[in-house]
Amino acid sequence: MNPYTVVRRSGGRLVTVPYHEVYATYVLPTATLLEEAAALSQNPSLTAYLGLQATALRTDDYFQADLAWLDLVGNVDLSIGPHETYDDQLTGQKAFYKANVLLVDQAAAGRLDKYKAEVPALQANLPVDPQYKLDQTGTMTPLILVDDIRRAGQGRAVMEPVAFSLPNDPRVWEAKGAKKVMMGNYLSARRTTVLEPLARAVLDDSVASQMDGEAYFTWVLMHEISHTLGPRNVTKDGKQSTVREALGEYYTPIEEGKADIGGLYNLPYLMDKGIVTGSLMSHYVGYLAEALRSIRFGMGSAYGVIRLAAWNFLVEKAALSPSGTNGRFLLDLDKAKAAVTELLVKLITIEGQGDQAAAGQFIKAYTTVMPELKTFLDAAETTVPLEFVPMYP
Ligand SMILES: [Zn+2]
Repeated sequence: MNPYTVVRRSGGRLVTVPYHEVYATYVLPTATLLEEAAALSQNPSLTAYLGLQATALRTDDYFQADLAWLDLVGNVDLSIGPHETYDDQLTGQKAFYKANVLLVDQAAAGRLDKYKAEVPALQANLPVDPQYKLDQTGTMTPLILVDDIRRAGQGRAVMEPVAFSLPNDPRVWEAKGAKKVMMGNYLSARRTTVLEPLARAVLDDSVASQMDGEAYFTWVLMHEISHTLGPRNVTKDGKQSTVREALGEYYTPIEEGKADIGGLYNLPYLMDKGIVTGSLMSHYVGYLAEALRSIRFGMGSAYGVIRLAAWNFLVEKAALSPSGTNGRFLLDLDKAKAAVTELLVKLITIEGQGDQAAAGQFIKAYTTVMPELKTFLDAAETTVPLEFVPMYP
């Protein structure tokens, strides 16, 4: 279950070998380069992080480096190491190496702070039993808007992430929280090259025409914030474990679904408080376009799996329905709000109970691409790109 070990056969047994030994030819030179960069940096918080991250790469103990990453201040941020676990399709445990070089938009900090301040209220507002609401003390630090000027490794594997939330270690969350990173240049590239044309191809004009930059940005922000809501630990048969361990292969789709649907659930609440502006329809469209994009990646993607399941759930509740004139999908906001509440309760309860069987049943029951949707996705294959790919000089 360690994210930083490789499992190998040795005779008749399974043994674990730490990443820093298995991947020493890559990891050791990287650590040296990070130390050289640390020596050049004039930013003390960056120097500290680079030095600790170099040590962490050599030992696979990331705790101190993770804390230092959360403490970074200044206009340059760097995220490098074995981080995301989406690509482990067996248990969702093993981390994949990636790197992002980020320029921080410091002017945006004030705009983002008002969202951060709402997290405890959002936790309290969840439509679930209080036992599934986590104490938020010390969490949600920090939230930044950046341009990602260079990415590598898992950061470029098939999908180009537009935002991320790290670290993944619950001990770090408890000590300090997790940093949410919104990558503005990727958000805008994905929206214009993929999402807007895809929304027009599948959704009725009354819905698709609501897609804009602010709507998509808010939607992604809501997703990232909602990752911090809900349970993290499970007690089952008197034994404590993390939700991640309890749900195994289903953890990533269920957790991403909770972030998606939690984000939609929070929108009306934040609009009532005047923190989110614009129309609810536009923010929903941000999600629906992202869902359609992910569904095109198929069942090999945790996002594809859960977003197809949520799409079918919304269709089942008549929140989404083909229009009588052209078959493109209409959105009924009242029905959508009710369906979102019901689905959020379902997902958080699965997490809180660590109910792997219920997770599997839900995913199995809702992941068929219905002909009403397939027709439009097939037609979009020749007209809308699957993804954009950054090129570096
Ligand atoms: Zn997510």
